[in-house]
Amino acid sequence: MRKYIVAGNWKMNTTVPEGVQLAKEVVEKAKELPANVKLVVAPPFTHLAPVAEVLKGSKVALSAQNCADHVKGAYTGEVAPAMLASLGCEYTILGHSERRQYYGETDEKLVVKTRLALDHGLKVILCVGESLDERKAGKHFQVVTEQTKAVLYTLNPEDLANIVIAYEPVWAIGTGETATAAQAEEIHACIRNVIEEKFGAAAADDMTILYGGSCKPSNAKELFAEKDIDGGLIGGAALKAEDFIAIAASF
Ligand code: PEP
Repeated sequence: MRKYIVAGNWKMNTTVPEGVQLAKEVVEKAKELPANVKLVVAPPFTHLAPVAEVLKGSKVALSAQNCADHVKGAYTGEVAPAMLASLGCEYTILGHSERRQYYGETDEKLVVKTRLALDHGLKVILCVGESLDERKAGKHFQVVTEQTKAVLYTLNPEDLANIVIAYEPVWAIGTGETATAAQAEEIHACIRNVIEEKFGAAAADDMTILYGGSCKPSNAKELFAEKDIDGGLIGGAALKAEDFIAIAASF
């Protein structure tokens, strides 16, 4: 059964007290939502423990924004999947375009991180998406297909239940420019086909595929109405509980 998810990526925003306050507001407002949408928040590493306390007993799940590519040891500054799982993270985002662009995150690294995250009990929100130049060159289907295959095709069929894909066109992230619902839908359908080719129609149909890139209360309804768009990965608008919940209420 396909799940509908709205996940908030807080990126490197808020102090710990501000983040705790934001989480409290999200938990409170989430009570008004119907049960058909799963909410996830992804605060910075420093906030995970106190935010986990706030989320206890609520319908909001916790996610990290990244994890290490090693199990443990001498990797200064890194945070291992087991550490994240032990403090209550259900998910980790991996392969966000900011990490691919600024921190040299390659598909090869993502293969390792994804395997480790899954093996340590985390679900993975795997981000894929083309740059503006790639879209202008007409390479968006190819780029997204390659990014999706690079990680997904290394997995076992039973892993797929713990994977969520987020299609995030880089040119739409934090720019205020959203992909049209039709532009997003055709890529989501393409991702579903890529999954079907290797894992079959049922697995493809069950996969949750989120859209990310300047998604806000004013455009969420149109995007989520598309048959292959199963929710959103939300950046800027996730920093205001009211907007985040309004997006989730758009289903
Ligand atoms: C993101 O970075 O995951 C994102 C979707 O950001 P924004 O909503 O701000 O475009």
